[in-house]
Amino acid sequence: MTKIYEKAPAKINLLLDVLRKREDGYHDVQMVMTMVDLADRLEMEEIPGDRIVLSSQAGFIPLDEKNLAFQAARLIKERYNVSKGVYIHLDKQIPVAAGLAGGSSDAAAALRGLNRLWGLGLSGSELESLGAELGSDVPFCVRGGTAVARGRGEVLESIPSPPQCWVVLAKPPINVSTADVYGKLKASELKFHPSLDGMLSAIRRDSFADVCASLGNVLETVTLQRHPEVRQIKECMEKLGADGVLMSGSGPTVFGLAAKETKVARLYNGLRGFCKEVFVARMLT
Ligand code: ATP
Repeated sequence: MTKIYEKAPAKINLLLDVLRKREDGYHDVQMVMTMVDLADRLEMEEIPGDRIVLSSQAGFIPLDEKNLAFQAARLIKERYNVSKGVYIHLDKQIPVAAGLAGGSSDAAAALRGLNRLWGLGLSGSELESLGAELGSDVPFCVRGGTAVARGRGEVLESIPSPPQCWVVLAKPPINVSTADVYGKLKASELKFHPSLDGMLSAIRRDSFADVCASLGNVLETVTLQRHPEVRQIKECMEKLGADGVLMSGSGPTVFGLAAKETKVARLYNGLRGFCKEVFVARMLT
């Protein structure tokens, strides 16, 4: 039996701005998203019967229709009338509910993989449209690379990769719900908006220092206030000499960028002192 493997990398937001709350309840956002090489891995193969079976070594995620990879498999199967069975094994490495779009990336990897396994011949943009039905971050995860995301996050414009660097990620032991954070955000009262133009210009000029100086995430106003441990991790990373520090998505994961490898060990060891989940990754270019 043919087996298909797909990687599902974590995403980080270099910039996350919220422009306004829309009448449909969603928020109009402006984000710069990119991927790091901390990744889940999906293995997919055909099985007899018309069914989807999902397994994972991680004991703490749902394996039924609540799982985004399962939902992705069901969507593509139903939309293209595939009456075959599939077994998906999900090797989960990205921390869950962390602001790293782990579930969205798994869904995207399932769409890419099943398109290949079943020989459906769908284009990247067809897969992105399917992904948009599953969640706002899924189209970006289908496409990968680096992109500006607008609208709810599903309107994408690919841009060049930021300068290559190390990314140290630390997740405090709390769960943050993205819906909750957006619910608490008062978009019209935001006093500061990070500059998208500044970030785009820094990336275009391949200036690592300016990328670090342009990092910004308005959701920090909600999450840092409610969870002091996230602020503590930010301060710790700054003290340990990270070149740039930001919370990813709605949190609680904080990432620190470092150009030099020598800084990485210092950051990792310093953070491990009071945070169990610390990861070292490279920016994917
Ligand atoms: P985002 O940054 O897009 O908000 P996140 O990293 O904060 O995502 P996820 O790791 O995607 O959050 O998980 C959020 C919730 O989704 C969890 O409560 C989890 O139970 C559920 N979930 C569904 N499918 C998956 C999956 N494949 N991997 C992890 N969590 C999943």
